[in-house]
Amino acid sequence: MDRQQRLRIAVQKSGRLTDESLDLLHRCGLKFSRGKDQLMCYGENMPLDVLFVRDDDIPDLVQEDVCDLGLVGLNVLEEKRLAMLARGTTPRIEVLQKLDFGRCRLSLAVPQEFVFAGLQSIAGKRIATTYPHVLARFLRENGITAEIVTLSGAVEIAPRLGRADLICDLVSTGSTLTANHLREVAVVLESQVCLVRTPVALPGVKADWVRRLLVRVDGVQQVRESKYIMLHAPRSALSQIAKLLPGSESPTVIPLDGTGDKVAVHAVCRETVFWETLESLKAAGASAILVLPVEKMLA
Ligand code: ATP
Ligand code: ZN
Repeated sequence: MDRQQRLRIAVQKSGRLTDESLDLLHRCGLKFSRGKDQLMCYGENMPLDVLFVRDDDIPDLVQEDVCDLGLVGLNVLEEKRLAMLARGTTPRIEVLQKLDFGRCRLSLAVPQEFVFAGLQSIAGKRIATTYPHVLARFLRENGITAEIVTLSGAVEIAPRLGRADLICDLVSTGSTLTANHLREVAVVLESQVCLVRTPVALPGVKADWVRRLLVRVDGVQQVRESKYIMLHAPRSALSQIAKLLPGSESPTVIPLDGTGDKVAVHAVCRETVFWETLESLKAAGASAILVLPVEKMLA
């Protein structure tokens, strides 16, 4: 009965995606308190409840309509989708929005001594991975035949243990690879967190909330890097200053009383504002430069 009225979103219980997923929901205005079992949080000011699960379970929960929404990495999503196809199930999970966190890539990495001269070098080799379906698709698309060794974890030590010749695993900085004397040679999939949902039509109230949530998620994404810049400048320097403001649309120009040629310039910059930018602005004639964070934005 409640399920008719309230949305349920699946989020990773504890891991790399947890903090940023909850932060996103908070920024979208959701207040919640953790229930006794800690597995479910009830939204206090929106009809949106949060279910905490392993990230690998999120696609299935959405596929089976246990949850209306989910926050999961594209890597996990693609693997699950391909696994469903392989067993004859049609995946019904749709990506509503790609989010700007959880970025990583699924890559092929070889031991330092491996002679790699293009993808043909891995033909006939054994590749250890926890993503057998995504890897199989990559090999198929590149016309390469190789043996896939499916492991449930500790992929990076498989070559040293003699279980595989190379690996296909998630990389973000590459430090884990280096620590294991491996070197990245090809990207199989670029990944980031996705907001996913079931394509099943939702009752009116829930559908409305999904729409509102999407607008808010979009707003949150836009303000992450955005800054509000205020500065003073001689009118003659305006065109050069406008060129220096990163990702800003037409700035507001306000005359300053009793200063002759001087104006105040206000602009929203949608890209990161670096110290170097401020230095260039100053060199172009700007003074009294202020950079403020943007809290919310609604286009
Ligand atoms: P769970 O217990 O929920 O199954 P897990 O061990 O599978 O956790 P984490 O290591 O927390 O998962 O990673 C979750 C997701 O974070 C990955 O599926 C991927 O989308 C993303 N991610 C980002 N950077 C990395 C990285 N360097 N290594 C692994 N995952 C990364
Ligand atoms: Zn997992």
